[in-house]
Amino acid sequence: MAKMYYESDCNLGLLKGKTVAVIGYGSQGHAHAQNLKESGVDVVVGLPAAFTEERQKVTNDGLKVVDTEEAAKLGDLIMILVPDQLQKAVYENSIKGNLQAGNVLMFAHGFNIHYSQIIPPKDVDVVMVAPKGPGHTVRSQYVEGKGVPSIIAIYQDASGKAKEYALAYASGLGAGKAGIIETTFKEETETDLFGEQAVLCGGVTELMKAGFETLVQAGYQPEIAYFECVHEMKLIIDMINEGGFSYMRYSISDTAEYGDYVTGKRIITEETRKEMKKILSEVQDGKFASNWVSENNSGGKANFLAMRRNETEHQVEVVGAELRKMMSWLKK
Ligand code: NAD
Ligand code: MG
Repeated sequence: MAKMYYESDCNLGLLKGKTVAVIGYGSQGHAHAQNLKESGVDVVVGLPAAFTEERQKVTNDGLKVVDTEEAAKLGDLIMILVPDQLQKAVYENSIKGNLQAGNVLMFAHGFNIHYSQIIPPKDVDVVMVAPKGPGHTVRSQYVEGKGVPSIIAIYQDASGKAKEYALAYASGLGAGKAGIIETTFKEETETDLFGEQAVLCGGVTELMKAGFETLVQAGYQPEIAYFECVHEMKLIIDMINEGGFSYMRYSISDTAEYGDYVTGKRIITEETRKEMKKILSEVQDGKFASNWVSENNSGGKANFLAMRRNETEHQVEVVGAELRKMMSWLKK
């Protein structure tokens, strides 16, 4: 088992007299800023002047908001919580020139550091604190007096206290109540990209689509195919999330369990596993990162937007949208 850190291992007092600048106020930003403030930390949020609506939201939440440059100047710890593909530009234009020796530059995902999109000066600490949950959960758990498990990583330790800073920050988020695990920028970035591509996002949606298309092409009604291959996924995942595969298999019928054992391995074959290894190697050698960076730099992201449009127009999405209207418990 990996070593776990809890509140008693963290010294929140290390942040006393320091200012934390949270750049961005989206999913993670709003949760970090509010949790830290309520943990007694001096927080300032950085957003461009033009983001008037979002700045108003920060003010309404009782927090101080200034321009990104000003926040970077004020911050002893600067946490970058803007979308990963914008971080390089925000860093170059607004943060870099306002960093001082001894500052702590922080991230919640390792992409830009690991793939050298951002190259910080040698005299600052570079650390990661990443809650393993969406921002709204990071916030709601904190409000309930609990926390979301988080990972920390140290890329550069100029002060000799980088890990203490990361633990203090994580504890201010409430993570010390749940547990904190140390990783590296490399491990976090590579496993995160592999997981979302091969399993969580790419793998799951293509599996659902392939099942849906198989049934529809065989003449079954698309609505029924959607229920069986897409809608019910959540019920299964919720059980796995709660009690692992064995709890899920305990809850389903014996027929379903038997089918699970004999059929699953025919879907995820040796060939699939071989392809997974190839995908991982493309994450490791930077091929995926370089493709994604050039997609963003190519102006217009034509390829990305075309793929997005094609996926949105797929029959499974059209049918699903109609069926979800029948489900009064779902948010619009
Ligand atoms: P988000 O899209 O929800 O929010 C981004 C924020 O950045 C918004 O407030 C936006 O207004 C702001 N922003 C955009 N352009 C800006 C600019 N030029 N200057 C300053 N602010 C700007 O993003 P997010 O999902 O919170 O992701 C932030 C980071 O957290 C990413 O590194 C991501 O990988 C990481 N992360 C996200 C989650 C998650 O659940 N969403 C979980 C773990 C880690
Ligand atoms: Mg992720």
